[in-house]
Amino acid sequence: MPELPEVHTIAVDLNKHLSNAVIKSIEIKNNFNKKIIEVTRISKNIVLELSSETFLIFHLAMTGRLLIRKSDRPNDDWERIILTLAKNGKTGQLRFCDTRMFGKAEVIKKEMINKLKSKYGPDILADSLSPEEFLSVLVAKRTNIKNALLDQSVVSGIGNIYANDLLWMSKTHPLTKTNSIKIAKAKELLNNAKEIIKEAILHRGSTLSDKMFVDAFGKYGTHQNYFRVYDQRNCKNCGTKIKFEKINSRGTYYCPTCQVLKQ
Ligand SMILES: [Zn+2]
Repeated sequence: MPELPEVHTIAVDLNKHLSNAVIKSIEIKNNFNKKIIEVTRISKNIVLELSSETFLIFHLAMTGRLLIRKSDRPNDDWERIILTLAKNGKTGQLRFCDTRMFGKAEVIKKEMINKLKSKYGPDILADSLSPEEFLSVLVAKRTNIKNALLDQSVVSGIGNIYANDLLWMSKTHPLTKTNSIKIAKAKELLNNAKEIIKEAILHRGSTLSDKMFVDAFGKYGTHQNYFRVYDQRNCKNCGTKIKFEKINSRGTYYCPTCQVLKQ
């Protein structure tokens, strides 16, 4: 095993020749050869379980895309990482693209998976999440319901769009204090959250006017055509003009007639 003098020799030589060099791309050679066993999700991380207890994690953040492409297809915009894959005698690519580089890709070992999971509260789609547990994690947060829903360490999987629609559907004002919520309302919020998220999955997600979100084949989602209150002018329930304000710097839409603040 190289010891300090050997490692030092290499480091000094690398520094002499490579400092200020720009890394244009990284190629991982064939001997990586790990098989993709299964692709799952932890909160908003896409998790590729690889052979030998290794995991490749992608987080799309604001502008990331993961695209399944034929190898000879012209380059996509903003390609960052390309995996060349073989299956059933054919080759293809998985391309991670990101215009602004807020997304990330990371290779981690099995021990780190539990650490990743522990960063997040219960997944909103988990069958094991009971209204009682949902209520207790909300109440423990001591903030308003909109903030609590967006805090992924409280409950995982509700983003800004879906939080707006969920609160409208549940006739709940976004500034409602979590410690004023009772079990009946927690049950309603949980059921409606599951309904909205499942419906958006059926619609293959929402693509906003920035056209950023596409699925793994480059196709837009359609759930933007089914928003309840998010980005709407008038309430679909009573016709009142929808109010828009920033709550904790996140754009918040609500109906002042249907979603009255009860303190
Ligand atoms: Zn209304």
